[in-house]
Amino acid sequence: MIGFDLTDEQRLVEQSVREWGGKEVAPHIRELDRAHRFDRDRILGGMARLGLLGVCVPQEYGGAGLDYVCLGLASEELEYVDTSLRVVMSVHTGLNCLSLLTWGTEAQKQRYLVPQAQGEKIAGYALTEPAAGSDARAIQATAVKKGDRYLLNGEKSWISLADVADHFLVFAWTDLAKKQQRDPSGISAFILERGFKGFSSGPMKEKWGILAGNTGFFTMDQVEVPEENILGRPGEGFKIAMSALDQGRYTVAAGATGLIRACRDASVRYAKARTTFGVEIAQHQLVKEMIAKMESDYQAARLLWLRSGWLKNDGRRNTRETGLAKWFATVASERAAGDAVQIHGANGYSDEYPVGRFYRNCKAAVIYEGTREIHAIMQADYLLGYRDDRPARCELQPYGGRPPSSDDRRSTPGRPAINH
Ligand SMILES: Cc1cc2nc3c(=O)[nH]c(=O)nc-3n(C[C@H](O)[C@H](O)[C@H](O)COP(=O)(O)OP(=O)(O)OC[C@H]3O[C@@H](n4cnc5c(N)ncnc54)[C@H](O)[C@@H]3O)c2cc1C
Repeated sequence: MIGFDLTDEQRLVEQSVREWGGKEVAPHIRELDRAHRFDRDRILGGMARLGLLGVCVPQEYGGAGLDYVCLGLASEELEYVDTSLRVVMSVHTGLNCLSLLTWGTEAQKQRYLVPQAQGEKIAGYALTEPAAGSDARAIQATAVKKGDRYLLNGEKSWISLADVADHFLVFAWTDLAKKQQRDPSGISAFILERGFKGFSSGPMKEKWGILAGNTGFFTMDQVEVPEENILGRPGEGFKIAMSALDQGRYTVAAGATGLIRACRDASVRYAKARTTFGVEIAQHQLVKEMIAKMESDYQAARLLWLRSGWLKNDGRRNTRETGLAKWFATVASERAAGDAVQIHGANGYSDEYPVGRFYRNCKAAVIYEGTREIHAIMQADYLLGYRDDRPARCELQPYGGRPPSSDDRRSTPGRPAINH
């Protein structure tokens, strides 16, 4: 059976994030964006207080224990205010916390996941390097075993929260012969702490979007990482990197959906306020067409990410569905932002209105977590039979640790509510 109603708990999350974002962040976001300033206290502090940083992490590991649809709803509401807020959910919760939950040992979960889910520590995900983005096998970072430690060397670039996060999930070659052959079973995943000797980070200074967010690089110069900080088994790093993207892309899809809604709402407001040729511009059919397209894109994008969330709750593999949701929503958000600027005319071409910020912000999501082209190829390859998803050794646990019954998907008053 398919149900389109949100549970009471899901509605509460949606409402709480909407209220917090509208009251605590929206009034300041223009200035933060213009000042290129990541307001750590306001944003991370507020998200931690709401319980968002571990929203779908089980309570036993410090999280709010809510379902994956709640993660999507939070992402949608956050990006309605600003992309920089949703990026925190993507890298901290989606890419990092859920990878620790899926692949981590009990000791790693206690040491790293618990404080992250409680919002005491912030985490990032570091795959990309100056010469390796879409082609992740081209990474150059290495991790050489010395006794009970690994020595990590290399540079990671375009890393969200590089200057802010306390912990990073880092990918590096542990098998140098396999590196030569580009065999990804030679890559391993590590949990790195900012405080480890030899780690240094800096911001990407020329970035022109998501300006209220932090994006940077870091270098690893003989960084000593204890062997117990390897996530999964040696050689499983590439699989972990890809499995993390199933959760990161989900938050990006839901976030881009929120951005489409923000473009739609701003466009409706402006189109009713601005007059040309003696009528509101909303009366012109070509303006209506742009607004109508935003609505159809918004509704379709929302259904696609909701389907992914539902599959995650049920413990079913969703790489294909999540990729489609991310691809569709991000491309549609770029269309919506372009049209929102168009509807605002010259006013859209200034920071006086929010749509210029939406336009700058939307583009990054068409690039990260699989570019538009990589997702197009993936979807074609599924259809053509060139690509198939084989089960991984570890899969994201379903909501509640078991496939939820239909009762779970309706109202669940007995479960803990998100802090608010
Ligand atoms: C704001 C921002 C935040 C980011 N945060 C993170 C982060 O937290 N962690 C992290 O690891 N990375 C992060 N990234 C990096 C991001 O994941 C990469 O930029 C992305 O993977 C694309 O890689 P690239 O930029 O090297 O482009 P390239 O891979 O060099 O691609 C350049 C162009 O070539 C096209 N192309 C490449 N290969 C193919 C192909 N086979 N077929 C067709 N076309 C192709 C691409 O689609 C693209 O249009 C972030 C990027 C941005 C912009």
